[in-house]
Amino acid sequence: MKRESYISSSQHMPQTEKMFHYTCEECGKGTVIPMEFKGYKTRIKGYPFVVDQAIIGVCENCGARHFSARETKRWEELFNKKLEENHIIFTPDQIEQLRKSLRLSVEDFALLIGCTRQSIYNWERKSRIKPQSRMADLLMKLVDQSLKVGEVNVIQCLVDKAKELGISIDVDIEAQISKRVRK
Ligand SMILES: [Zn+2]
Repeated sequence: MKRESYISSSQHMPQTEKMFHYTCEECGKGTVIPMEFKGYKTRIKGYPFVVDQAIIGVCENCGARHFSARETKRWEELFNKKLEENHIIFTPDQIEQLRKSLRLSVEDFALLIGCTRQSIYNWERKSRIKPQSRMADLLMKLVDQSLKVGEVNVIQCLVDKAKELGISIDVDIEAQISKRVRK
């Protein structure tokens, strides 16, 4: 069993507590006990993310890890919050600002970027629970860049945005350009 720096704590996980304590499906013998992991490294939608205090079920017999849907949803919410705080994704205000800079109604802005009116309303709501998808966010970032600087190197822009999330994508833009020229 892999031992990391987890500590068992039953004080502050009343709801999570109930989700575990079942028999492990891996070995069929042990009971799954909730454990608290400090600085737990995971990936959310493929992007690296560290959860300050993660609750993971660990089988007391074989050490297999069990994840609860509610807990992983909480991680996703933390991830989204971090993205907003670090200005990696647009906040509701920024989306509204962008739309107004374009002098577009909610309806027209939705038509421009190919989503529903309801989506725009949801993203612009200050008390929103769920932000826009990464794809919608990137599209709006490109629109924003285009508005601010005119021409945008779309691929380079997307590569830079991925870098903000700790992902390095190697796109050989130069090679593609020279191929195009040769044709
Ligand atoms: Zn087990």
